[in-house]
Amino acid sequence: MTKNRRQVMALLQQKNTAMSAYEVIGALQQDYDTTLHPMAAYRALDFLRQMQCVLHLRTINKFLYVENSQPKFWQVLICDKCQQIEKHALPYDTAHLLLHQQHSAFQARDNHIELHGLCHSCVNTTDR
Ligand SMILES: [Zn+2]
Repeated sequence: MTKNRRQVMALLQQKNTAMSAYEVIGALQQDYDTTLHPMAAYRALDFLRQMQCVLHLRTINKFLYVENSQPKFWQVLICDKCQQIEKHALPYDTAHLLLHQQHSAFQARDNHIELHGLCHSCVNTTDR
């Protein structure tokens, strides 16, 4: 793995939250004194996504580190108010049902499902 990819992965693992490519670039500059071109950042993130070390959260265009061991399917809960992210491993059978329709040839390109809503603390502070 190249230095760029290693540093991007280490950063996402350490921050343990979803980050945009530009947040990654900013944090690398600050924490590692490394300047990364946007193209290099996107290439590194895409590589890590293909390695299944990183999920691309398409609904918010951010990237999230995950352990690349089993299980390989994730449910990602995204709080619309404070942007807090929760990730939960899905049992294989559940994931298979959700990602692979039996009567369709559709090929899912992601190994996660994104759900939007409110986290525990935001639910309790929201006026309803
Ligand atoms: Zn929240």
